[in-house]
Amino acid sequence: MATRQLGFVFDLNKCIGCHTCTIACKQMWTNRNGREYMYWNNVETQPGTGYPKNWHEKGGGWTKDGRLSDDGKLPPMEDYGRPWDYNYAEYLLQGKSDRVAANIHPTYGPNWDEEEGDGVFPNNYYFYLPRICNHCTNPSCLAACPRKAIYKRPEDGLVVIDQERCRGYRYCVKACPYGKVYFNLKSGVAEKCIGCYPRVERGAVPACMQQCVGRLRFVSFRDDKDGPVYKLVDKWKVAVPLHPEKGTQPNVFYVPPLHTTPPVFKSDGSLDDKPRVPIKHLESLFGPEVKNALDVLAGEMTKRRQGQPSELTEILIGYRTEDRFRL
Ligand code: SF4
Ligand code: SF4
Ligand code: SF4
Repeated sequence: MATRQLGFVFDLNKCIGCHTCTIACKQMWTNRNGREYMYWNNVETQPGTGYPKNWHEKGGGWTKDGRLSDDGKLPPMEDYGRPWDYNYAEYLLQGKSDRVAANIHPTYGPNWDEEEGDGVFPNNYYFYLPRICNHCTNPSCLAACPRKAIYKRPEDGLVVIDQERCRGYRYCVKACPYGKVYFNLKSGVAEKCIGCYPRVERGAVPACMQQCVGRLRFVSFRDDKDGPVYKLVDKWKVAVPLHPEKGTQPNVFYVPPLHTTPPVFKSDGSLDDKPRVPIKHLESLFGPEVKNALDVLAGEMTKRRQGQPSELTEILIGYRTEDRFRL
């Protein structure tokens, strides 16, 4: 068991879908040696099919009565999209091709349905959902491994796979309901987000958090009452986990999208004060607690607009790096 647990909050109201986080992770951990197809950090458009494709329906996690669910599926490679190499050398140095990326015809990939969203114009909507491993408190990937190759680091609760112990059975790939364990076809073992633990051990936050352009990621230990994660999750209760019904107790939490602007239009062209993103969709992602989170957020934003102070909006703006990251 972990004695301490790192937590992460992503404020979805601030994500611009730039994928800088994804590239930070890929450059650091997954750009070679059989990991080319993996996106330990990915950003997907909601509503959408996600990455891997339809991961919401892949099963896994825990049953309501606390047993390891046996309905987990192994996504085929087509549901991730296959990696490719660009023909830079041919194009730039040898003059053999008329363009970079000739003859590349991908059929799926991360954020494949970028900005499609849902709804009918002019009331259509979408938002971005950045995802990493949730470094769960009750990880089904860990419980499913017969080799005991997966463990939680005692000092920070990060969930990692011992590459020496893993025998490539892929039970963990099936068991993670978030599609966040990947199989390396070259080395024959499972791999996943490592929470950038070599950085954390030196007092630096993970690369995807540090590089986030929208400054929407908050990092601190769950028991640090002065940290942003404790304040947003436990004090203000505006950050909620993804698919809590899966029973893994994620340690990544999301501030849900308010999307009060742009407003919704009625058929006569006048404005309605309904939220643009249907609450039903948000509840399908974050469970019933999301309603309270949205109410608190809306209330504090109203206070702020009226010139009153709000600790919550100050935290969410995240003026200073040291306020967003506390290790
Ligand atoms: Fe395991 Fe999936 Fe939870 Fe990560 S998100 S700890 S891979 S169950
Ligand atoms: Fe990648 Fe590190 Fe972010 Fe995990 S925490 S997704 S390993 S950059
Ligand atoms: Fe969103 Fe930040 Fe990632 Fe950009 S870097 S896609 S703003 S989470």
